[in-house]
Amino acid sequence: MRFMAGESKQGIRAGAVVMASAAAVAATVWGVATLVEPGKAATQQNVSRSTDPAGGAGSQPQGIPEGIAHGSEAGENAVNITIDDGPDPRWTPKVLEVLQRHDVKATFCMVGPQAKAHPGLVKKVVAAGHRLCDHTMDHDTAMDKKSVAYQERQILDAKELIEEAAGSGAKVEYYRAPGGAFTPDSRRIAAAHGMRPLGWNVDTKDFGKPGTAAVVDAVKREIGNGPTVLFHDGGGNRAQTVDALDQVLDWLKEQGRPTGFPVRTTP
Ligand SMILES: [Zn+2]
Repeated sequence: MRFMAGESKQGIRAGAVVMASAAAVAATVWGVATLVEPGKAATQQNVSRSTDPAGGAGSQPQGIPEGIAHGSEAGENAVNITIDDGPDPRWTPKVLEVLQRHDVKATFCMVGPQAKAHPGLVKKVVAAGHRLCDHTMDHDTAMDKKSVAYQERQILDAKELIEEAAGSGAKVEYYRAPGGAFTPDSRRIAAAHGMRPLGWNVDTKDFGKPGTAAVVDAVKREIGNGPTVLFHDGGGNRAQTVDALDQVLDWLKEQGRPTGFPVRTTP
């Protein structure tokens, strides 16, 4: 989950694996908790400054619910493939190639400055029929502890950069908080700007490079948690991710599981 931005890239490399592991554990807990009780954790953390006392039961005028999406538009049996922390000039093209080979559409959760730095990749993602998701400006996994104004800038500045990079009027359709650090406010801001808050149910833990087999096994073991699977195309060497994604897509086909996009307008 840890996104290493520009100037700090070298200084924190040694600690990145440990931090990524901790984030992955937290993320899994978060995903399962959310599956059982949607929105509860975020409501407890942020109730004092929430402007939405219903804790996400609301829906914005354009019909985008504030609640975190876990379902698939492609039906109950479908799986949503989501790809985080890119785009990355080395690994995003490899991920795109695997998806194309399997004729699978995925949702790419991009970090604003990465999109700005690699607009050609954003355009490729859109041209291949995938969907865009806002993964903030700085991938601050503690943003849920910060001001609403800060959260708003993290979300809306990234949306602007991603859409500028995409061009052709392409829209960012989802918002995923880094490390699952959603708040009622951030969900409201996202929904008000046409972006459905998007969670995950299966963390493949690919970020920590546990080996291709471990990444594949995580999907097989945890797909019963829910339909949305988390992979990464950013944050370092993603060779295991590319291989594991290829195997997972073979396995899903064998299992008769279609793939699709996360729900946007249904609760
Ligand atoms: Zn991330």
